[in-house]
Amino acid sequence: MHMETIVHKVQFCVIGGGMAGICAAIAAARHGVRTLIMQERPVFGGNASSEIRMWICGAREAETGLIEEIRLENLYRNTYANYSVWDSVLYEKVQNQENLTALLNCSCLDAETKDGRIVSVTGWQMTTQRFHKIEADFFADCSGDSILAPLTGAEFRQGREAASEFGESLAPAAADKKTMGLSCLIQARETDSPRKFIPPAWANVYPDDGFFTNRDHTLVGNQNFWWMELGGDQDSIGDTEKLRDELLKVAFGVWDHIKNRGDHGADNWELEWVGFLPGKRESRRYMGDYILNQTDVQSGGKFDDIAAFGGWPIDDHHPGGFLHQGPPNISITPDQPYGIPLRSLYSRNISNLWFAGRNISATHIGLSSTRVMATCATLGQAVGTAVSAALRHGCTEVRETASRYFREIQTMLMDDDCYLPGLRRASWPLARTAHLVSSGAGDPENLRNGTDRALGGASNCWKCRIGDTAEYDFGDSVPLHEVRLVFDSDLERNRLMMPANFFKGGKKLAPPETLVSSFELLADGKSVFRTESNHQRLVRIPLDIRARKLVLRVCGFAGSERTTGGVFSFDVR
Ligand SMILES: Cc1cc2nc3c(=O)[nH]c(=O)nc-3n(C[C@H](O)[C@H](O)[C@H](O)COP(=O)(O)OP(=O)(O)OC[C@H]3O[C@@H](n4cnc5c(N)ncnc54)[C@H](O)[C@@H]3O)c2cc1C
Repeated sequence: MHMETIVHKVQFCVIGGGMAGICAAIAAARHGVRTLIMQERPVFGGNASSEIRMWICGAREAETGLIEEIRLENLYRNTYANYSVWDSVLYEKVQNQENLTALLNCSCLDAETKDGRIVSVTGWQMTTQRFHKIEADFFADCSGDSILAPLTGAEFRQGREAASEFGESLAPAAADKKTMGLSCLIQARETDSPRKFIPPAWANVYPDDGFFTNRDHTLVGNQNFWWMELGGDQDSIGDTEKLRDELLKVAFGVWDHIKNRGDHGADNWELEWVGFLPGKRESRRYMGDYILNQTDVQSGGKFDDIAAFGGWPIDDHHPGGFLHQGPPNISITPDQPYGIPLRSLYSRNISNLWFAGRNISATHIGLSSTRVMATCATLGQAVGTAVSAALRHGCTEVRETASRYFREIQTMLMDDDCYLPGLRRASWPLARTAHLVSSGAGDPENLRNGTDRALGGASNCWKCRIGDTAEYDFGDSVPLHEVRLVFDSDLERNRLMMPANFFKGGKKLAPPETLVSSFELLADGKSVFRTESNHQRLVRIPLDIRARKLVLRVCGFAGSERTTGGVFSFDVR
C-alpha cells in the first residue's frame, strides 16, 4: 500500500518556518515569486514560537525590514504579551501573504538532485498522512539543522574550528566536534498567595546553591533560565530525544530547587510552562563561498556583497553547558555592526540552494554572534529577495545571482527598509528632483537623504508636530504610482517583547509612542489617502493618479499625549 503524494510546482521552496524561513518566504512572495514554505511544527517562529519561547535578539543597531514589521504588528495586536497571540501574528503574516503556500506539520525527509541541483524535496505531513513533493527553481534551507545537507550532499561542517584555521583567537587550539547545547526553558508566574510545588520523582535534585555557581536563578528581571543547557559534547541532532529527557529532569529539578530548597523569594510563584521541545543553538553549518569568522565579526565585516548585518556579542557557550561549573558562556560585543555577505548564504556545491538562519556559512565563533533571531530574520529576507532578483533575470544559479545582481538585491533590500551598514539608499528620482518644502522647524531634506535612522550623531529625521506638512512640487502634473514612508518607531526602545516570567500586573505591549499613527496624503489639494490606525514604520501606498503637488500631513502619534515626532522618509515614484 502506498500513501498519497501531492505534487506542488513553485518557483521557490523554503524548508523551516523559524524567523529566518518565514522572512525568506514572505520577502520572495512579496516580490512576486510563487513560494511554498514547509514547516514541521503547527506554529511558525522556531525558537521564538510559543513552543520554545526565546526572545528575538539582535545587534545594538536595530534590525528593520520584515522583522521590525512583525515586531510592530505584535506590539499593536498583543497588548498582554500572550504567546498564542504572538503565534497568531506569525501565522497570519504567512497565511495571508499572496503568492505564498504554507505546509504546516510537514517534515522534509527526502530530496531529489540532478547535476548538482535540487529538483524536488519531499515532506511527510503527519496530520493528513500524505507526502508532499515540491518541485522548485530554488530552495532555501532554513531548518536550523540543515536537513537538506545530508539529503543533497551539500557541504557542511559540525563542530569547532581550530584557532589556526581562520586565525580565531577565541577558537580552541584543536578542531573538535563540540557545539553549543540544547535547552528546555521554563516560565513561572507570580500569584497572590503561596503556591506548593511537588516535583516529579524523576526530576534531578539540587539540594543547595552549589550547582548554580555562575547561574543566576532568582526570579527578578529577565531571568529565562537559558543556562539549563546540555548536549554540546554530544550529537546535537542524533541525541536530541535523549537530551530532551535529561533537560526535563534539569528543568523540573531547577524549579524544585527554587521552590523547595532554600529561600529564593518564590513562595508566591508557580510553574507556568515547561518547554518539551528542546531549543537548539548549533548543529550543521553549510559551507558557502565565504565562511564568516571572528575577524569579520570584530572588524565590521566590510563586504561588497553585504546582504545583512550582525552585532550580537560573540556569545559562545561552553559545550559542557549546565554540567560545566565555570561561566556558561563568553560574551564579547563587537565595536560596530558587521556585514554578512551574500556569499555566506548559498551552497558552494549545490547550485540552487540558499540558506538562512543559524546554519549559514560561518565558523563556530562566527555563528556564536550571527545566530540570534533578528539577525537570522534579516538573512532570510536577503535570501528571499535574492531569489526574486534571480528569477527576474532568468538566472538559475545561486553563485551567479550573488555575483551579478548583488547591487540590485541591496537596492531592493534597502527599499524594503533593511539597513545595510556602509550603504545609503538612493531615493527615487521623482522625489530627488522635486522642490521640497515643509512647515515647522524640521529639515525636510532628511526625508530624501537615503538614511532612515539616526546615525553618527545625525537624526536623519524630519522633526514634525501634529498638523505639519511636507510638500513635493514636481513642476508639472506627473503620474504618481507609489509613496514610501518611513516613520519613527523608536529604534532605541527595548526590543525584547515577550515575557520570560509572568510578574503580577503583567507586561503590556503597545506601539512605540513616537510612531505617526495618523496621516494624510493630498494631491493638488485633494485627499488621496488617510489613516488613523497606522502602527508600522515602513508604509507603502499604491497610487494611480497624476498631480503636480503631493503633500504629507501628519495628524497624530501613537502616544496619545504626544504632539511631536519624526518621519525618516517620504519618497514617491
Ligand atoms: C535555549 C536557547 C536560547 C537562545 N536565546 C536566544 C535569545 O535570547 N535571542 C535570540 O535571538 N536567539 C537566541 N537563541 C538562538 C536562536 O534561537 C537560534 O539561533 C535561531 O532560532 C535560529 O533560527 P532559525 O530560523 O535558523 O532556526 P529555528 O528557530 O530553529 O527554526 C527552524 C524551524 O525549522 C523547522 N524544521 C527543522 N527541520 C525541519 C524539516 N526537516 N522540515 C520542516 N521544518 C523543519 C523547525 O521545527 C523550526 O521551527 C537561543 C537558542 C536556544 C536554543
